[in-house]
Amino acid sequence: MHAPCAASTVPASDPQETWPVGLNADLHCHSVVSDGTLTPDELARRALGNGVQLWSLTDHDEVGGQAQAAQAARSIGLPFLTGVEVSVTFADATVHIVGLGFDDTDAQLLQGLYATRGGRDGRAREMAQGLAQAGIPGTFEGALKYAGNPELISRSHFARYLVEIGICSDIPEVFRRYLTEGKPGYVPHRWATLRNCVRWIRDAGGVAVIAHPGRYGFNPTLEYALFSEFIAHGGQGVEVVTGSHFAHEYPKYADMAREFGLAASRGSDFHSPHESRVDLGALPPLPSDLEPVWHLLQAHIRQ
Ligand code: AMP
Ligand code: MN
Ligand code: MN
Ligand code: MN
Repeated sequence: MHAPCAASTVPASDPQETWPVGLNADLHCHSVVSDGTLTPDELARRALGNGVQLWSLTDHDEVGGQAQAAQAARSIGLPFLTGVEVSVTFADATVHIVGLGFDDTDAQLLQGLYATRGGRDGRAREMAQGLAQAGIPGTFEGALKYAGNPELISRSHFARYLVEIGICSDIPEVFRRYLTEGKPGYVPHRWATLRNCVRWIRDAGGVAVIAHPGRYGFNPTLEYALFSEFIAHGGQGVEVVTGSHFAHEYPKYADMAREFGLAASRGSDFHSPHESRVDLGALPPLPSDLEPVWHLLQAHIRQ
């Protein structure tokens, strides 16, 4: 008889064993509450069906779907963390910060998100003016049909409408031709500040995470500044494996997590079965030497 190996003596209740770094966590996706096309309930069921073991719904600038998501997750036995993806202006560019595991009734957070959303209606009307000047009328009304609520209207809703009326054949083409800097439907916008956003999340008991850093097109100096300032304000995590990165970017941001001592997060950034490249739960695991962000949030997981 061999003596039992060391690993088998670790009690099953050890949280590191319950929530290992290789967990199929999906901590970034969108519902109809922002610019996704599935309800929180449909997302929860799809996540479970795809093997997700820890899930978070991270709608843009809004936590209105959290109660339904939490309830849906609980009813099917899917561990859940509250989530949000906040739009931030940093160095005149738009950066996204994911908040996880916060109290979704926190007054300062709710007020901050409300103020951040406040600019969307006016911005969308300006976008529609730009598109009208380019010969495409009626896009505010068209996009609003998809958004439902002008407070949450986003470029994704404009993109869906432009595909619907046959101006472009798919969503990426709309962004390329109409909705990115220098194009007729692009309107620069001031979102929340990095400092405020991180404070709202932290003060509400959550962890702030830099979303898809590879998407910003920052040079190394600006990227260094983003990470440094984020940490100085109290940010603790970075998305390493995300549906919004190409696979060749995972090692780069794993290195950034190590260099800056940040916890690593993982999420598909799933929006829609018809639009998203990566489905819920369908990403490779985090590199095993990184500290997963869920280790900072164990007490906040609802199950
Ligand atoms: P907004 O917050 O209104 O600026 O819209 C940003 C959203 O547009 C993102 O969250 C994505 O869902 C979507 N998006 C941004 N860039 C692209 C792109 N190149 N292709 C497809 N969707 C995009
Ligand atoms: Mn989106
Ligand atoms: Mn984003
Ligand atoms: Mn997102």
